[in-house]
Amino acid sequence: MIINRKGTINPAHPHARDIIDEEMEVPILAHWVHHEEKGDFLLDTGLDAAYSTDPKGRLEGTDVDVFQQNKGENIAKHIEQNGINLKTVFLSHLHADHAAGVRELPKNIPYVIAKGEYGQYHPKIHGDFLEGLEELYEIDFSRATLMPPLGLGVDLLGDGSLWAILTHGHTPYHVSFLVNTLAGPILLAMDAAFIHENLELGIAPSDYTWNVKKAQETLDKIIEFLGEYPQVRVGPGHEI
Ligand SMILES: [Zn+2]
Repeated sequence: MIINRKGTINPAHPHARDIIDEEMEVPILAHWVHHEEKGDFLLDTGLDAAYSTDPKGRLEGTDVDVFQQNKGENIAKHIEQNGINLKTVFLSHLHADHAAGVRELPKNIPYVIAKGEYGQYHPKIHGDFLEGLEELYEIDFSRATLMPPLGLGVDLLGDGSLWAILTHGHTPYHVSFLVNTLAGPILLAMDAAFIHENLELGIAPSDYTWNVKKAQETLDKIIEFLGEYPQVRVGPGHEI
């Protein structure tokens, strides 16, 4: 997808200097988590195959985003190529670049978002890529564990291997994921940071952002957490 550096890095932040007004091509990401006992999970879905022939993914809505996708890069193709037997899909939020792929994934497994986030989803504006899902399962952060300095966390699989962390700002109930992999812990910030530069400069995105002040507070917490736990690697939402 194409984003602009001015807006990916909030130009109104007091430490923002000389943020160039330039377009950047960045990837749309979905993360596959394989748990030895519990099976395969997706964190976000990326795009379905419709985007390889139509930049709007054949979605109808007043504010449908435009993305580029080569043939064979859609999520169902990745699932097939890797022999993934999906158990559950966890979604960070309901923007099309993170969730449109739901359209071509199995409908007989749970899809999970933070409680409250569905209120942000407007099919007439964003396009109805959740059509066909009978139910969205919700993570209730009102009963979550406080994990300072990060904030509220929920143990998704019950063994500490995969945590949802409430990181609001990009959207009201956006979540990031902390994955305790065999190769060490990884914080997948999702859109709490679009690119590594957000973390390096300590400046949150302002484009596509529901509440810039809250997004900055969240980024500050993530940076503090990474400072306290240097063994944790971090992945932003649109850069590897
Ligand atoms: Zn995104």
